Amino acid sequence: MTELLERYAEVAGPDAVAQLRQLAEPLKGMKVVHVNSTRVGGGVAEILNQLVPLLRELGVNAEWHVIEGNAAFFTCTKKFHNCLQGAVDRPSEHDLAIYEQVNAENAERLAPVLKEADVVFIHDPQPAALIRHFPERKGKWIWRCHIDASHPDRSVWRYLRQFLKDYDASIFSLPDFARALPHPQYLIAPAIDPFSGKNCDLSEDFIDAVASDFNLDRGRPLLVQVSRFDRFKDPLGVIRAYQITKRFFPSVQLVLAGGGATDDPEGGMVLAEVRAAAAGDPNIHVLELPSDAHRIINAFQRLATIVLQKSTREGFGLTVTEALWKGKPVIGGNAGGIRLQVINHHTGFLVSSPEGAAMRIRYLLERPDQAQRMGEKGRKYVRENFLMTRLARDHLTLMVALLRREIERIDTTQWRS
Ligand code: UDP
Repeated sequence: MTELLERYAEVAGPDAVAQLRQLAEPLKGMKVVHVNSTRVGGGVAEILNQLVPLLRELGVNAEWHVIEGNAAFFTCTKKFHNCLQGAVDRPSEHDLAIYEQVNAENAERLAPVLKEADVVFIHDPQPAALIRHFPERKGKWIWRCHIDASHPDRSVWRYLRQFLKDYDASIFSLPDFARALPHPQYLIAPAIDPFSGKNCDLSEDFIDAVASDFNLDRGRPLLVQVSRFDRFKDPLGVIRAYQITKRFFPSVQLVLAGGGATDDPEGGMVLAEVRAAAAGDPNIHVLELPSDAHRIINAFQRLATIVLQKSTREGFGLTVTEALWKGKPVIGGNAGGIRLQVINHHTGFLVSSPEGAAMRIRYLLERPDQAQRMGEKGRKYVRENFLMTRLARDHLTLMVALLRREIERIDTTQWRS
């Protein structure tokens, strides 16, 4: 067995790995291409970084390509993102022309790869229009939506649907997100790699060093939220919850750690708002980290007494899985994929306001034993549901199903007289 799979067998069990090998057998040597819009920052990049090498180790010829776009393109696609998550931030005709132009340029650049691929996974709306340029495509094309699309702006959805309808299948993280599309839709939740820098075990010395580098006192309660600076992640709501908590626990500390994703142009603006709200309080640490600060983020999650993910919309929220894996109770916004992971009163609490979050923070700070039990349940829950082996299994199953369908479908028309 190869190295990565051997390590997975230790954590997820040998049966999980044997099943992956079996599923991968008919896909050996097939060209599977993933396309997204950023190499670093955000959950999609995080997943592809781990999933693609795992598929390769299983013998699948997997590749990951990133589309190139200018600032105007990413401004438009951020508007798509906001509108799909229910905000009103419609792109103009000019924005849409740029979107289509950038997709056309990327289609030309990626044509040699995409034309020949057996399966193509297109992640999120940014590269969704590529499909228009491959009417003669050889492979199956799947659109993977990582966004909370449960209440999209109708005009933006209608616009994107003209591209999405041509895909052979689509994947959503939750049933609530699935939309009416003329092809099979699959539900697959994201997952984490327990061996990546973000999730691997760390020495106490390293964790201590991070605490001291960032001026954190390990003897005092620490709240942590790790997120891009995005309004849907509600960093201002986190500060408000912290401020309420401070009335009862004056020694509490807060870390809001985030960095930019190259496909998110709004980060700087939101970061400035967060800095303004935190100004003057030395116990709020607003940190802008480089995109490769995986072990530092890992350490923050381990230093946390409680991890927060107070999003108001959330496709999945890998940061929640990361925290649960580290045995931390999570107080999460009652939104999207967080609901799949925070099992209310078991692995954490779901909240709908800063006041609600503060109430739950206080509850857990007063009951460290219960917080610890929740954390233990969380780790077990992730082991059973949200490790990369399960994600690879779902992807392999989907590919086998799509590729075999045409060979094995029973065509009832031939029996009609
Ligand atoms: N992340 C990171 N650096 C940051 C902020 C986030 O590496 O400064 C990582 C985080 O640990 C997680 C991913 O980016 O793995 C964010 O995924 P999530 O699904 O939580 O949110 P998204 O950004 O995709 O909306």
